[in-house]
Amino acid sequence: MIICKKPRGLHDLLEKKNIGQHEIGFVPTMGALHAGHLSLVVAAKKENRIVVCSIFVNPTQFNDPLDFKKYPITLEKDILMFEGVGCDVLFIPSVEDIYPKGTNNLEHYDLGFLETVLEGKFRPGHFQGVCLVMARLLEIVLPNNLYLGQKDYQQCMVIKKLIELIGLKDKIKVNICPTLREEDGLAMSSRNTRLLPDDRIKATTISKALRYIKENLKAGETKKIKDEAKEMLLQKGFLIDYVEIANADTLELIENWNGKEKVVALAAAFLNNVRLIDNMVINT
Ligand code: AMP
Repeated sequence: MIICKKPRGLHDLLEKKNIGQHEIGFVPTMGALHAGHLSLVVAAKKENRIVVCSIFVNPTQFNDPLDFKKYPITLEKDILMFEGVGCDVLFIPSVEDIYPKGTNNLEHYDLGFLETVLEGKFRPGHFQGVCLVMARLLEIVLPNNLYLGQKDYQQCMVIKKLIELIGLKDKIKVNICPTLREEDGLAMSSRNTRLLPDDRIKATTISKALRYIKENLKAGETKKIKDEAKEMLLQKGFLIDYVEIANADTLELIENWNGKEKVVALAAAFLNNVRLIDNMVINT
């Protein structure tokens, strides 16, 4: 595995490696790796000659500065984990490399409705930050295939929209990989390591509440089942941002389900300052 720290160096290396038009697969991460991240690399390995991964804890996407400060960093372990699953090139830029002009007064991306609901509503500015870093990373790596996790359902939609906005739609295919879960159902997340032992046990309720919706949603009003799922979380001491059912393709919130429309249940809630998100597609 080659480790690159500078955008220019990575760019030149990929240009050289891509001489035979080999496909490049790209897996962007913020490090603190777990098996969910690695599953993206495994998927990328199957479909590409060269797999590039990145580790960059992006300051512009944290709407809570404390969350940024506390974001787990396990770089040495991450390098070994990426190497272990066959990552070819690991890009680890610095903040100055990605944001040479600083992190203020940067581009604004018109994400429309997507930025007004769910994560967009509860984490103002978050998706602008995601777009800022992804636009830079995609322009440096210029992958043929991009690998993202369904765990961050709305983020996948935002990045697809970004790729359209920056004119790379014909060049980059977005591949969305299933959410990897712990044995008890908790979606794997770098933030799980910050859960206190008692909270780690309670944290499974978020996937249980979503599963409850998935298994019991009937055509008609959605309020009652959402309230029941919220109650499950409240009883375990969660502070809820949202539990919603939305159109799986547009994220329009569904108050009345016709029983046919493809929908997804999404939740975000805190356990002692650790914010967890998860989602389940109801009818595939
Ligand atoms: P992050 O390091 O949290 O920015 O995540 C990097 C990528 O890994 C994103 O595309 C995430 O959606 C994906 N990811 C995070 N958790 C999981 C998981 N449990 N299963 C599959 N993919 C995941």
